[in-house]
Amino acid sequence: MPARLLNGAATAAAIRSELLPQVRAFASQAGRAPALDIVLVGHDPASEIYVRNKHRAGSEAGLLVTIHKLPESSTAAEVLSLVERLNASAACDGILVQSPLPSGISKADAQRVFDAIHPDKDVDAFHPQNVGLLVQGRPVFAPCTPSGVMELLARENIAMAGKRAVIIGRSEIVGKPMALLLLQRDATVTICHSRTANLPGVAREGDILVAAVGRAGFVRPEFVKPGAVVVDVGINRLTDRAMAAEFFGDPSARLADFDRKGSLVVGDVHPSVADVAGALTPVPGGVGPLTIAMLLKNTLMAARRREQ
Ligand code: NDP
Repeated sequence: MPARLLNGAATAAAIRSELLPQVRAFASQAGRAPALDIVLVGHDPASEIYVRNKHRAGSEAGLLVTIHKLPESSTAAEVLSLVERLNASAACDGILVQSPLPSGISKADAQRVFDAIHPDKDVDAFHPQNVGLLVQGRPVFAPCTPSGVMELLARENIAMAGKRAVIIGRSEIVGKPMALLLLQRDATVTICHSRTANLPGVAREGDILVAAVGRAGFVRPEFVKPGAVVVDVGINRLTDRAMAAEFFGDPSARLADFDRKGSLVVGDVHPSVADVAGALTPVPGGVGPLTIAMLLKNTLMAARRREQ
């Protein structure tokens, strides 16, 4: 039986509609809307789309979203100076610096930029203080993507306590915080990465399997315990027609879609996993919309905390 689809888009829409009256209540009490400031440096096409989506979703939810665009040639000092200005601004509740920063800014300098965001305005939850609080199990802000996954699992009544959870990926923004959040819900957690031995075998132990790898269709049926809940965090652009045909079958509606558009966004989980998994998040329409919904939620929380 094919896996039940976990509809992230619908859950995200529910979260956003729950936020509407809360944002209105905040605005009438504070006399202003919660304000999110997004810093976009350069012209990375994917980043431009993400920022546009965040702006639209935030505005629809009643937030005041301002995009600060800096040129590709910006130095780390210029980005830092904008972050410092936003830190000091009474009109700003949440700051998001869209990642990745241009290649002209070194990894160490990019880290300095993210570290410079005031922890109280750190709606992406990348600041070491917020990471530390998350590690200690008393988060103020949790990173948007993993906390979106947690909302989805909770609202879909997926049991976590006592379950084996396996996460493929150990990034700071997805894999590690995902593991911590699942641990807080009493799952027994394993984190896998590129050096994990017998990855399919380890992954197959998971009652819950989270894929955050960044490789199209990486997770195949042999990675999946029959009946497992599979969460696909990956966002990958598929441009190879032969791969698209292998992915979706030839002929198929999605391949026809590929032929019309010349590319498709796909996850880290191969579609054939649907025959083994018990439940599965789609891409698109799974984790992506949840990430944005949680960003809005974090911004409202930041605004409330600043007004208190
Ligand atoms: P990173 O590139 O930072 O991390 C990828 C992780 O996957 C690393 O830990 C890496 O291991 C591991 N990995 C890579 N190749 C293999 C392999 N062959 N076997 C086992 N592990 C491997 O990616 P992110 O965490 O930032 O993102 C992951 C995916 O999620 C991407 O597709 C990204 O676009 C997507 N994403 C989606 C979001 C959403 O809103 N839906 C938000 C954020 C990200 P190692 O550490 O050993 O290198």
